Amino acid sequence: MQPLCSTNVSISANDERFDGLLRLIGRHFALTAVLVTGTGSARRILASSALGELQRAQIVEAEDASETLHPGPGQQTSPPGSSPQLIAHYPLASQGRRLGALYLLDSRPRELDAGQRQALQDFATLALDLLTREADDAQQRHEIAALRESERRMALAIAGSGTGIWDRNVATGEIHYSSGWKALLGYAEHEIGNRIEESYTRVHPADLDYVRATIQAHLDQRTAAYEVEHRLRCRDGQYKWVCSRGKVVERDKQGRPLRMIGTTTDITAMRRLSEQVQQSVALMTDLTNEIPGMVFQYRRQAGGASAFTYVSAGAQAVCGLSAMQLMEDAQALANIVHPDDRQAFIDSFARSAEDLLPWHLEFRVQVPGREITWCQGEARPRREENGSVTWYGFLTDVTERKQIEAELQAFATTDFLTQLANRRHFMRQLEAELARLQRNPEQSAAILMFDLDYFKTINDRWGHNVGDQALRHFAGILRSQLRKTDTAGRLGGEEFAVVLSEANLDKAMHFATRIQQELARAAIQHAGESIYLAVSVGISLLDAGDASVEAALSRSDIALYCAKRGGRNRIEHH
Ligand code: GH3
Ligand code: MG
Ligand code: MG
Repeated sequence: MQPLCSTNVSISANDERFDGLLRLIGRHFALTAVLVTGTGSARRILASSALGELQRAQIVEAEDASETLHPGPGQQTSPPGSSPQLIAHYPLASQGRRLGALYLLDSRPRELDAGQRQALQDFATLALDLLTREADDAQQRHEIAALRESERRMALAIAGSGTGIWDRNVATGEIHYSSGWKALLGYAEHEIGNRIEESYTRVHPADLDYVRATIQAHLDQRTAAYEVEHRLRCRDGQYKWVCSRGKVVERDKQGRPLRMIGTTTDITAMRRLSEQVQQSVALMTDLTNEIPGMVFQYRRQAGGASAFTYVSAGAQAVCGLSAMQLMEDAQALANIVHPDDRQAFIDSFARSAEDLLPWHLEFRVQVPGREITWCQGEARPRREENGSVTWYGFLTDVTERKQIEAELQAFATTDFLTQLANRRHFMRQLEAELARLQRNPEQSAAILMFDLDYFKTINDRWGHNVGDQALRHFAGILRSQLRKTDTAGRLGGEEFAVVLSEANLDKAMHFATRIQQELARAAIQHAGESIYLAVSVGISLLDAGDASVEAALSRSDIALYCAKRGGRNRIEHH
């Protein structure tokens, strides 16, 4: 018998069994038996005796055709006259899948009888059995290779993520670590023991109780898995922060844990980062809390809903509300804004949101049980991608500054001796009155100029202090006769002026008369003496057509001059 010849490079263990079977078939039918397995590049052609090139080509051709033609068992497929001849061809298929084919060849054409066809069928069953087994083996080899590959990929992925694996036998107290686990802490393969007691010696003493308790809770089935962040000592003595996750994968019938598997991930870098973030937050909070005033971040959604997203501790001092209160309810601030300033407060934010210009506002807040405080707000708006606007700014208590400003304002506008408006302020008031008249030309106003008569003699006879007293006395009388809308001022020396809003000449004459009557009635008392004052008055009407207030004032001055010339203690109008 010729040795088995195979065209396939991979010789499997099955080849010997195929070889035996083919020899048996060849001997039984006294011709060449050929077994073809696989398709395409995996095709093997095995023969019980040497196969010529021509025969091989013939089989390959028949085999290619059979895939589409599916000839039945025992059918003659070769054309007569060609040598050698295909006597029989038997396709071998399992569960609809073609695994190969069995061919019988001879030098001459030949017919198989019924007995031989039955034998061929039996041999084919055997061959199919071998082929099926080979296919199963191949499948298994393929699966194992795929598993190995996926295992290798997982190991690479785990190693790349700074994660090590451990496997603990809870019953015996043994624990095994992956090489990656050991490498994580800088240990070589042989430098780590496999006792759980030793494992715990690497846990940072401050973390040990917590780690044990967390694992115990899981062992006792109080948690579905366990996860704990703690420090582990490396080979070089340094500690690394790790996240240890694990799960019992096997328990006995009583629920006692047997085996536990888990991972250890290096989170040192992450911890460092999170510590840095925490430090930055703490620094920012400390800084903003130390700033006198309230630092805030305020956000208004496109829909109108708004909230303080950050408020510093200074809120309490500025507006009597805690940072927490404001962050819970932004409306709380608007609620304590003084009613006179509330609309301006609301409008100013709306404007800033619209044109995205810095918000600036001085407003009063009224906290129950506290004096009214003045707040100054400054913030810069920023439009977010979602359409909301966020302001970054601060509020400061400017009550003291406001008081000083008010004092300075009073100082700059008031005559110190009489506390009436000084000349400059009076002229401003006069200008405002003229502007008002120009807006309402049907209305009128009167300007009265007063000059005390023979005042110099008071100074001369009773002294300068009495002169001052006389000036204050006269100012008091003027003030007592004024309505809210009128203004009185000291123009200088013993000269005064009054502007009567919405007054005609008649009203002005009455006013002047009342002043003279008061002056005549109420004398100044000095050293048991009664000193009587008299005053001359010049009146003119302020006109919407007046080019300037000076022009109107000079008309009153002319009238006053007439009153003096007419003998004093008189009232004249222009
Ligand atoms: P006439 O009736 O013409 O108005 O005479 P008169 O003396 O009142 O007017 P005159 O202008 O001659 O004098 C005004 C005086 O007022 C001169 C000045 O010493 C005095 N005087 C000006 N300012 C003050 C002041 O603040 N205190 C005192 N005590 N006297 C002042
Ligand atoms: Mg005078
Ligand atoms: Mg005078």
